[in-house]
Amino acid sequence: MSSIDLNTLPASFDAIVIGGGISGAGILREAVRTGARVLLVEQNDFASGTSSASSKLVHGGLRYLKNKQWRLTLESVRERQRLLREAPGLVETQPFLMPLYQGAKPGKFTMRMGLWIYDLMAGTFVSGWLSQNSLLKIEPNLRKPDLLGAVHYEDARTDDARLVQRLIRDAVDAGAVALNYVRAEVVMSGAQVTGVRLTDSASGQTREIAGSIVINASGAWASDLQGAPEGSPKLRPLRGSHFVFSKDTLPVKRAVSWLHPKDQRPIFAYPWEGAVVYGTTDLDHDASQGHPRMTLEEADYLIDGLAYQFPALQLKSSDALSTYSGVRPIVDSGKDNPSEESRESAMWSSPGLVNITGGKLTTFRVTAREVLHEAAKQVPALAPGKDQPVFESAKQQKHERLFGRLGAKAANVLLSSSTPAQLEIIEGTPYCWAELHWAARHEQVHQLDDLLMRRTRIGLVMVNGGLEILPRVKEICMTELAWDEARWNAESARYLELWQRNHAPVIA
Ligand SMILES: Cc1cc2nc3c(=O)[nH]c(=O)nc-3n(C[C@H](O)[C@H](O)[C@H](O)COP(=O)(O)OP(=O)(O)OC[C@H]3O[C@@H](n4cnc5c(N)ncnc54)[C@H](O)[C@@H]3O)c2cc1C
Repeated sequence: MSSIDLNTLPASFDAIVIGGGISGAGILREAVRTGARVLLVEQNDFASGTSSASSKLVHGGLRYLKNKQWRLTLESVRERQRLLREAPGLVETQPFLMPLYQGAKPGKFTMRMGLWIYDLMAGTFVSGWLSQNSLLKIEPNLRKPDLLGAVHYEDARTDDARLVQRLIRDAVDAGAVALNYVRAEVVMSGAQVTGVRLTDSASGQTREIAGSIVINASGAWASDLQGAPEGSPKLRPLRGSHFVFSKDTLPVKRAVSWLHPKDQRPIFAYPWEGAVVYGTTDLDHDASQGHPRMTLEEADYLIDGLAYQFPALQLKSSDALSTYSGVRPIVDSGKDNPSEESRESAMWSSPGLVNITGGKLTTFRVTAREVLHEAAKQVPALAPGKDQPVFESAKQQKHERLFGRLGAKAANVLLSSSTPAQLEIIEGTPYCWAELHWAARHEQVHQLDDLLMRRTRIGLVMVNGGLEILPRVKEICMTELAWDEARWNAESARYLELWQRNHAPVIA
């Protein structure tokens, strides 16, 4: 199922990255800039771990500011500003509103002070106050008794899986090799990690590849990497779940953030990919449960949060289009309350191996450079050079979204080679049919969920995972991937079963 016969790979690389989430993709992108020969392997699909299941915010994190995590907040805010400049169409400004009520804490003064510091860190003063009248014109469904108004401020949003994909594609264009559906185990000689043993998940083919350094970016699984030496910190996987509603069911024009009445945790709903994302939870996750999915308790907790802030909408779990859950890779410091655990990344090394876990989507570039500095202690050629733009962003007014998601070269080819019918938008989504053709042909799609859950997010933003468009998706897969009838039947059955198991709204 991997893109190439493993025997055609070179016998050695300067660096081998294990894990195709945002951490691995960011490291791959920065490493290839040093001129190194780099291989990335991902055991499932790219971004199929936590990096397609985040809240999709590129943000400083007001919560971190509240916890006085100054460095994390400052770093995140700076990276947000950089990504807004360098990834237009993929990372976009997201205006936020936080309604405030008579007698509730934190009050207006505290919030405005906090936001002033937040703005100061970003060097842009955009936060302010909206009166009750102005607020209700924008968000008429908010709870009204005792409503004073709202603070407003700005963060950013992205499509997390697409951000990973774009980094990987750009790295591959620059000479890296990236394989999905290939699992790695560490190979050692004495105390030295010397490379990896790869296994193609479909064919079972195996191959040993030598690496001057191996970088373990396997996220919440980082301490379980087979063959790796002892000495990893104890990880505490924390599950976070989200609902996706249609924009008619949960009509919010901006991101609305408020504190859950049960535990005062911040929760939020915001427009995303033509729908509305709402979350999240923060609970210990038992990794033996396999792929994380929203539990009934989480669904009730989130629905209670909606009933509190948007009582008139009377939303139920069954009103949602879909759900998704991810596992935060957090270093365990033994805190009782999971939400008090630090979200900073952790790095540890041994001869021939650098491990990285934790951290945020937002700060992937900083993390990648820190990892390469650490790797350069063993392989000096990997020292990252001067800061370079994350992406070569072509300013493009008309098709900015497509340019951001695919990169200028690919977007230009897609636009000039697609028929008008292929450029039509798929109803209820921001995607055009040509994006499905493009992804199937050029983006290492091996299974139907690669196409519908990560290259596009149709499986999250359409009813029943996009069931109604499957006949046309079938034609695309048969043309672009040369699937026959039997393969399509197997893929579509598997996709619908997976969607039902992991993404269908949870109903008691
Ligand atoms: C609910 C939730 C909300 C979040 N919201 C935000 C947010 O809004 N903004 C933000 O900045 N951050 C957010 N985060 C944090 C962020 O999503 C994660 O820190 C980030 O995605 C972790 O990326 P990663 O690459 O380290 O891990 P992953 O994305 O999990 O990638 C690790 C990959 O390694 C692969 N792998 C494991 N073992 C092997 C092996 N042996 N061989 C090959 N491959 C292997 C896995 O399959 C996986 O794909 C959120 C996290 C969660 C859970």
